[in-house]
Amino acid sequence: MNHETQVRPESVTGTLPAVAAATPMMEQYLEIKAANPDSLLFYRMGDFYELFFDDAEKAARALGIVLTRRGKHQGQDIPMCGVPVHAADDYLQKLIALGFRVAVCEQIEDPAEAKKRGSKSVVRRDVIRLVTPGTITEDKLLAPAESNFLMALGRVKGAADQSCALAWIDISTGAFRVAETSHDRLLADILRVDPREMIVAEPVFHDPELKPVFDVLGRVANPQPSSLFDSTSAPARIARFFEVATPDSFGTFGRAELSAISGIIAYVEKTQKAERPPLSRPEREENGATLFIDPATRANLELLRTLSGQREGSLFKAIDRTVTGGGARLLAERLTAPLTDPAAIAARLDSVSFFRAEPRLGEAVRLSLKGVADMPRALSRLALNRGGPRDLGALRSGLSAASAIAGLFATVEPPPEIRGALAAIAALPSGLAQHLQLALDDEVPLLKRDGSFVRAGYDAELDEMRGLRDESRRIIAGMERDLAEETGIRSLKIRHNNVLGYYIEVTANHQAVMTGTDQAKARFIHRQTMANAMRFTTTELAGLESRIANAAARALAIELAVFEALVKEAVAEAEAIRAGADALAVLDVSAALALLAEREDWCRPQVDSSLAFEIEGGRHPVVEQALRRLGDGPFVANDCDLSPEGDAGHGAIWLLTGPNMGGKSTFLRQNALIAILAQTGSFVPAAKARIGVVDRLFSRVGASDDLARGRSTFMVEMVETAAILNQAGERSLVILDEIGRGTATFDGLSIAWAAVEYLHEQNRCRAIFATHFHEMTALAEKLTRLHNVTMRVKEWEGDVVFLHEVGKGAADRSYGVQVARLAGLPEAVVARAREVLHQLEAGEVSGKAERLIDDLPLFSAAVKREPPKPAPRSDALTEALAGLHPDEMTPRDALEAIYRLKGLAPG
Ligand code: ATP
Repeated sequence: MNHETQVRPESVTGTLPAVAAATPMMEQYLEIKAANPDSLLFYRMGDFYELFFDDAEKAARALGIVLTRRGKHQGQDIPMCGVPVHAADDYLQKLIALGFRVAVCEQIEDPAEAKKRGSKSVVRRDVIRLVTPGTITEDKLLAPAESNFLMALGRVKGAADQSCALAWIDISTGAFRVAETSHDRLLADILRVDPREMIVAEPVFHDPELKPVFDVLGRVANPQPSSLFDSTSAPARIARFFEVATPDSFGTFGRAELSAISGIIAYVEKTQKAERPPLSRPEREENGATLFIDPATRANLELLRTLSGQREGSLFKAIDRTVTGGGARLLAERLTAPLTDPAAIAARLDSVSFFRAEPRLGEAVRLSLKGVADMPRALSRLALNRGGPRDLGALRSGLSAASAIAGLFATVEPPPEIRGALAAIAALPSGLAQHLQLALDDEVPLLKRDGSFVRAGYDAELDEMRGLRDESRRIIAGMERDLAEETGIRSLKIRHNNVLGYYIEVTANHQAVMTGTDQAKARFIHRQTMANAMRFTTTELAGLESRIANAAARALAIELAVFEALVKEAVAEAEAIRAGADALAVLDVSAALALLAEREDWCRPQVDSSLAFEIEGGRHPVVEQALRRLGDGPFVANDCDLSPEGDAGHGAIWLLTGPNMGGKSTFLRQNALIAILAQTGSFVPAAKARIGVVDRLFSRVGASDDLARGRSTFMVEMVETAAILNQAGERSLVILDEIGRGTATFDGLSIAWAAVEYLHEQNRCRAIFATHFHEMTALAEKLTRLHNVTMRVKEWEGDVVFLHEVGKGAADRSYGVQVARLAGLPEAVVARAREVLHQLEAGEVSGKAERLIDDLPLFSAAVKREPPKPAPRSDALTEALAGLHPDEMTPRDALEAIYRLKGLAPG
């Protein structure tokens, strides 16, 4: 991305100091900047977007580009840096990823027009677009398999209380949803959608009650003026945007919903300026239609990303077999919002079963889908005037693949969801498909500005102009030959550049031939003398040139008109195209889940309205695949039954004990994941599964501290446990891993004990509770729905062998010392730990530290001390690493640091 080779217009490079000192341009810049204080201003000058002052310093640091200083403002140097227009997407991508917003300011008139107003007048410029994380549409800036949501929070205070709603769009696909929410579940609802950007009215943003929510969201949350969210003017704003008389036909929305929808639309208008993305009408998500997953559970179950933020290792990655971006996005969306209506779940499962029973059809569909480009994203770019011929090409290939796919279903009887999808595919605009086919060349360029994308034979005048242009070029080639012969200069060339146009060039030593006689002088009109060459033109060449230029300009104008007409036609069909693309995504997801079920040997779950939870031979999809990849032996399948006894009453609690590393956490999580998968409408990794629909899923798994928010590990654990005990109901599924481990033994045991009692008596939910406190197994005598289960192990020659099998009963001990030995603790420590454990278990010291110290003199002589392991080296590499401060580094600094470190590394 070296932009030094780019041509900067003379007025910028040569005369910037003067321009900057001469205030009109700086005045214009400062005025535009003042209107966009929160964004970096990309100020268009010729082939570059230039940045000045603070913006330049920030951008130069963030992008690792050269910061120059040009001109003066109020006696100070003006810092400046620039990015070439043609590479702007790459720089935008980096800036957006770093959390910047960018205002793109273009020249909105021809410089020649400005000159007409006087030599000192400045070309008119204006911001044509604000680029923010939630409003991007460029392929380079978007991940194909991920949605890019912009979300707005609407909140209105009523007489009695206040109501909240969320609206969210993906401007790149046109999806538009709205749902009611409340302060309690706000964070969970936001994190489910996982927006890239969230806008909130300023007073709401500063409401102390919501501070914890916005703290978690960090820079994703973005305060905006309250006027954007005004629910009273919302209907008019919505009607204007969708060009309808009233938004009533979209459904009846509450005031908070209207406020959120209005916020979104106003922000789209603010950032997209004159352009309008083809958004679908806002679609309401009914309360309770999806499984509630609280934020901690969502994060810990690693549905879309692992705790460290990677896709690799997540549930999504393990199950995604889709072949299109739209399919992957739909699968991710479904996985983050599993359903709660058994009939709706069954409808999705029917689609998977259908492809499971028709594997060849599924394969054929997948094969055709591979050729389908991302139609909604292409359409969105076209509508926003950022599209090119390739986007039209994407629509063409999508439409033609869609009709081929529809043809594959001619002889089968698909279930309702697939039938619905096929109907939407059949309703795709066939006229547009034909026009695109006829008008576009097979191979089309990315940009429309140079033409060459309309098919020959589509437009007679275009063909004629192209013929003329090409013919003239042939004539020029002939002219070059003739002139070389006529003048006897064999090296004579006819060349072209943007300044002179076509010219005849001869080397300087042939000057005499070209200018030696009056006749030659009259014929060869001198244009330019270079160090080694001279340039001329002739009347014929000038005539031909203008013919070529006229024909080329006319040809381009025709091509652009064809482009505009096709775009207009496509945008008019936006709704049908989006519905068709959504339908293709449904086919992709269903066929992909069927393939997954076949390859991984998954079964169709039965999801009903009971409180059953009966899994036979359940497996953890991610761990199973990881073990297979590593060749680490087969995954041991396990049953789980939390169903009420008989079909009445409440679900059961399993109290799971077992050794460290025995597989407790894996078992807990696999059951939660099976519930999620089943309600997503997927087959599940089990031999058999019956699940009474779960309305809320809670987990307390994994320990991490949240020091940034001033919470220790134990505090986080208690906050999460409190949330569960306060919220879980009889339809909930709760998984709890080792409550009370982060504090003193007796405190921990007491808390765990009381929590289980509370779950059993008050929450009455289905739950699995893993613990190392074996004392708790006694609770089974008192609590009728509590059952003890354990991870089985075998001891073999003093070592512990994990069987990973869940069986009835309680573990006799934790085998912690054996596991510590396996982990490589020094033998001396292991031996010593065995002694301490032995005495503790024998009850001889009953926890009294003084007696323990007396009875067990430190490291008895019998224990052979191992030589200590060398302490970590404090070498040059470690020191260099310690000296790095990643948050303060530019990408270039970071790269240099890597080279430096490599240089220090041994070997
Ligand atoms: P700790 O008490 O130390 O947290 P744990 O009992 O929760 O341990 P897990 O973390 O669930 O144990 O499992 C440890 C490892 O055992 C896993 O990483 C996995 O490799 C393996 N494992 C777990 N369950 C199974 C299984 N059912 N089949 C095969 N391997 C398994």
